[in-house]
Amino acid sequence: MSTPTTEPLNASQASLYQQLRAHLAELKLTTAAEHLPGVLEQAAAEGLSMTAALERLLGLEVEATEARRLAGRLRFASLPSPATLEGFDLEAAPGLDPALVNELASCRYLESATNVLLIGPPGVGKTHMAVGLARKAAEAGYRTYFTTAADLAARCHKAAIEGRWATTMRFYAGPTLLVIDELGYLPLPAEAASALFQVVSQRYLKTSIILTTNRGVGSWGEVLGDTTVAAALLDRLLHRSVVLNLDGDSYRLRAHQARADTLRRTTTGTPRPLQ
Ligand code: ADP
Ligand code: MG
Repeated sequence: MSTPTTEPLNASQASLYQQLRAHLAELKLTTAAEHLPGVLEQAAAEGLSMTAALERLLGLEVEATEARRLAGRLRFASLPSPATLEGFDLEAAPGLDPALVNELASCRYLESATNVLLIGPPGVGKTHMAVGLARKAAEAGYRTYFTTAADLAARCHKAAIEGRWATTMRFYAGPTLLVIDELGYLPLPAEAASALFQVVSQRYLKTSIILTTNRGVGSWGEVLGDTTVAAALLDRLLHRSVVLNLDGDSYRLRAHQARADTLRRTTTGTPRPLQ
């Protein structure tokens, strides 16, 4: 092992140094232990005060701890894609108010347990926006979990059969932000609608939900197979909420059209609208 200072250490200095490393290892400050020789060298070379050297050493440990926690939160969040809010093209979503999106990006809505409802037809960026907001929340330190309505229903169904209902409900109550993607793509059986209702109820006014759906709230009775459950669920979901309507052209379709236009221009020289 290289010696940590420019001058050779005498025996008692070396033993002190070893003891310091052992303390850091015992306290599981592995990053600080790793950087100890380097920081001591810098301290000697730059004439750092003891305060400055300690700050530098522990600063490295804090940085590594934060990075590890963030990685853990992102792993737990189970985001289905690398989509980010920064990668969301607001100009392609004219129905959206950029100021509102910025406000959501600040994560302040999580402090008031406000829900976010993203409504729109397929391909307009609902999932992208939900993933981007979930990523922001995880980055800001909030416990975040992403799931789909179908997955939530399947997991609750399995839990009921295996006698783990209470544990599963606690699981869905835990995260500060729960994203439920794709409500309405598949009709939910009555049992699933009531599981969803319970999840929404137990989070009500405590923690936020971001829910995406391709169905206007008027047809939720149909989606949930029960107008009473739908009304009660909407009551809780919308009581403190932000609703974003992402209607307009599908982004997927638009990208396809742009490619087709370019192709047509390069082959015929004149752009023509797609039918
Ligand atoms: P939805 O969930 O509404 O069906 P997605 O979020 O899956 O739509 O979007 C479909 C694809 O188009 C994704 O690859 C997404 O990243 C992209 N996309 C949609 N809207 C936008 C946008 N406004 N800016 C950037 N990419 C977008
Ligand atoms: Mg989607």
